Amino acid sequence: MSQPQFRTPKGTHDVLPEDQQYMTYIKKAVRHRARQAGFKRVDPPIYENRAIFERGIGAHTDIVEKELFLVSSKQSGDDAAELALRPEFTAGICRAYIEHGMQLLPQPVNFYAIGPCFRHDRPQKGRYRQFHQFDFEVIGLKDASLDAQLIQVLTKILSDLRILDRLTLQINNIGNSDNRKMFAQAVKDYFIGKERHLPEIDRNRLQTNPLRLLDSKEEDTQILLKNAPRLEQFLDAESKDYHATVLDYLETLGIKYVENPGLVRGLDYYNQTVFEFWDQSTGAQNAVGGGGRYDSLMELLGGKPTPGLGYACGIERIIWHMKEAGVQAPNKDNVDVFVAQLGPEAKKSCLKLITDLRELGVHTVGALGEASLKSQMRLADKFQAKYTLLLGKMEVKEGTIILRDMKAGKQKQIAFKQVVPMIKKLLGERNLDTYTLKDQLGPGEVDDD
Ligand code: AMP
Repeated sequence: MSQPQFRTPKGTHDVLPEDQQYMTYIKKAVRHRARQAGFKRVDPPIYENRAIFERGIGAHTDIVEKELFLVSSKQSGDDAAELALRPEFTAGICRAYIEHGMQLLPQPVNFYAIGPCFRHDRPQKGRYRQFHQFDFEVIGLKDASLDAQLIQVLTKILSDLRILDRLTLQINNIGNSDNRKMFAQAVKDYFIGKERHLPEIDRNRLQTNPLRLLDSKEEDTQILLKNAPRLEQFLDAESKDYHATVLDYLETLGIKYVENPGLVRGLDYYNQTVFEFWDQSTGAQNAVGGGGRYDSLMELLGGKPTPGLGYACGIERIIWHMKEAGVQAPNKDNVDVFVAQLGPEAKKSCLKLITDLRELGVHTVGALGEASLKSQMRLADKFQAKYTLLLGKMEVKEGTIILRDMKAGKQKQIAFKQVVPMIKKLLGERNLDTYTLKDQLGPGEVDDD
């Protein structure tokens, strides 16, 4: 085969039908658990004013420093980019909360979001430039029970997707910003005279964001950190109390966790609770998701002081885990009936027949080309159709049609008038795909895939 002229850009991929089954299944689990717990869906735009990410996420984080995709129009020129593709949802959702005056709603306001995010990362396994997240945010009220409740919703989703037992919940409390300032200063003091032993990346972090050293993947840094001051030494009584209460609630809910004092999460806006779900075998690398409390983010974005709590999960990584665990997402793209025909009259009748079957909720395809019956039958086989209907010139004349059971390899001639009720009976009413129709007509909500 010759090389295609165009391919997907580096770090992106087509979500092909096989993975759509997983995507749909995951979205359904998320929506279901979100509704149960009073979360409403919000879709912030895919790009926002870049300052929202720079201020919200923090100028000295990898996401903003290296990974932001800037967006500009031809008119504005590259240098004038004021917009950036969203690398995550939280900052945009908080901007929406402020913009739409949602502090007037009953608090907390619970949101969830599902969609693509963009980071100019170095592509590798589980790390893409366009990837999908589902995200939960609890804004406007601070209480340790909300942290525990959010974690519970997430464990329910991961358990619905049958991957919870492959993961561990890692949790920590990183205190308030004063605690962290004191800690950052202590770390800086500790490293005076030792900087040259640090890898360059962490030498820079020491100046800009010392907290990041704690979750550094550099071995030299981790060795040096063994005798460094520890964050928990700087936590105030309130943070310690808060943490103990969250853990207590998790125990009440029967949720297993691992206390991890090295967990800080990379972003500036977190305070108090931070947590991640890690792959049991690979740990921090390829975490399926992470989140925490962000009680000062709203102010950074120009809003009133408002507590917040959020979590984001990478959908590609979940799909990977589901496949590894042998979880097969239900496939609803099966073909029930293949319609084969020969001759212009038959073609016309089939066109109407195909429409009638589809209306009934039967997954129906028909080649309707000029190919021979034999090659149409081969196609029916490839589509793995349950039944094939054959209409040739003779059958049109006689007002009949041939119905072939593909698995049994048996066929019979029936009256053309009988074919729709016959297919309905053979498939069984409950297997008819009337899902979309019901959703749109009923009083319930419209499917928001
Ligand atoms: P973060 O807030 O950076 O921890 O991201 C939350 C989750 O999104 C991660 O745990 C991953 O599952 C997913 N994620 C983040 N960045 C990427 C990426 N570049 N490619 C794929 N998934 C990602």
